[in-house]
Amino acid sequence: MKNENEFTKWYIDTIQKADLMDYTPVRGCIAFKPDGFEIWEHIQAEMDRRFKETGHRNAYFPMLIPESFFQKEKDHIEGFSPELPWVTEAAGEKLEERLALRPTSETMIGHLYSDWIKSYRDLPVLINQWANVFRWEKKTLPFIRTSEFLWQEGHTAHVDEEEAREETMQMLGIYKEVVEEVLAIPVYDGQKTPSERFAGAVDTYSIEAMMQDGKAVQAGTSHYLGTKFAEAFDIKYLNKQNTHEFVHTTSWGTSTRLIGSVIMVHGDEQGLVLPPRIAPTQVVLIPVGPWKKNPEIIEKLDEVFAQLKAKGIRVRLDDSDQSPGFKFNEWELKGVPVRIELGPRDLEKNQALLKARDEDEKVAVDLAEIVGKIEEELETMQKRLFDKAVAFREKHSHTHVDTLAQLEQHIEASDKNDEIPGWVLAGWCGDDDCEENVKNETKFTTRNIPFNPPATKSTCINCGKEAKHTVWFGRAY
Ligand SMILES: [Zn+2]
Repeated sequence: MKNENEFTKWYIDTIQKADLMDYTPVRGCIAFKPDGFEIWEHIQAEMDRRFKETGHRNAYFPMLIPESFFQKEKDHIEGFSPELPWVTEAAGEKLEERLALRPTSETMIGHLYSDWIKSYRDLPVLINQWANVFRWEKKTLPFIRTSEFLWQEGHTAHVDEEEAREETMQMLGIYKEVVEEVLAIPVYDGQKTPSERFAGAVDTYSIEAMMQDGKAVQAGTSHYLGTKFAEAFDIKYLNKQNTHEFVHTTSWGTSTRLIGSVIMVHGDEQGLVLPPRIAPTQVVLIPVGPWKKNPEIIEKLDEVFAQLKAKGIRVRLDDSDQSPGFKFNEWELKGVPVRIELGPRDLEKNQALLKARDEDEKVAVDLAEIVGKIEEELETMQKRLFDKAVAFREKHSHTHVDTLAQLEQHIEASDKNDEIPGWVLAGWCGDDDCEENVKNETKFTTRNIPFNPPATKSTCINCGKEAKHTVWFGRAY
């Protein structure tokens, strides 16, 4: 799975065999099948709870945005115009003004906030939206990059820079927590370089995750927008001294590419491996041996099923007439964390066999203790997957590269040994041209300037001058 093409093929095969999605006749637009959508629902629930605990509320804004709104913030339109789909006609008539299918909602929300916010008493405004957005992509990959995708976008307005910056960092922290603790994916948090900033932001921060082919996925971003959108949309408030001031705004988002990241980080040759906290089915119970002639097998499994359900565990009993081998394979493809097998011989010994999706061995568990054992296994598997992903990332995060020549040698050596090049930590002088040159020569782009780099670099990887920043470089989706 190390080779780029093999990995992509494995990924597409895996999501199709696991029945997560289907293609549609509209290029780059996929259908989420129930198992794929349910993974999203669990991610959503974990995020949404944390948003609400920190004082945010959900609202909903229109999908169609007038062209004139985009013209108001110059950087914003420049960044997004190449990817916008437009509605030009409705009810058989040409529209007076074209309407874009939203790529993000800063403009519509800016327009409304200028009306909603009048005084310091109206602040802060802490709103999140769960929605679909459109970015017409040339190269698409299900969940990772699609023309239409699902996401959440937070949009907040504050009295001053300090409060808005605190909000920006708070939300990045929530993203890191959910991605690490729920999706079991370790991330580096840090600041984006100016060329990788969100179009119209003053500062963009991100969490970056490493996939099993060594490429990066930007798993979430949080932006401090300063007063740029406030000035473009005239969002002013009357302060306590009775003078008008522009608000400071933020926006932050995570999307259904998190589903793709989970698959690319944890999956294996047998298919999906899902962290228990987001698995649509956490436990599958499978009768084995001559179970149809022994009705007490199903009776016992029904009993375990009811006990697990009462504990809030998502459990399925597979009593279809397929062979056990077929069932094992099918539930493995779907990445179900725990499988329980029970046959007449097991029942005689008052035990069942437990198989964790990511472990090779089956273990016998006492039927009297089975519910507690399953709960325990779901917890330890969650942690095991995270630790394994951390070890993988550490193995492929390199700190020995200081010059472009060394980076080129590193990539060459990796290719030769059929290894992935992973990421390198390198110094950067802050010049856009140096960043651009590294990208052109190696396809390695700046991921972020980590808050806690494992080492500090003193010279720029490209020009050798003094480094202003220590940056993660890697190939990215
Ligand atoms: Zn430089």
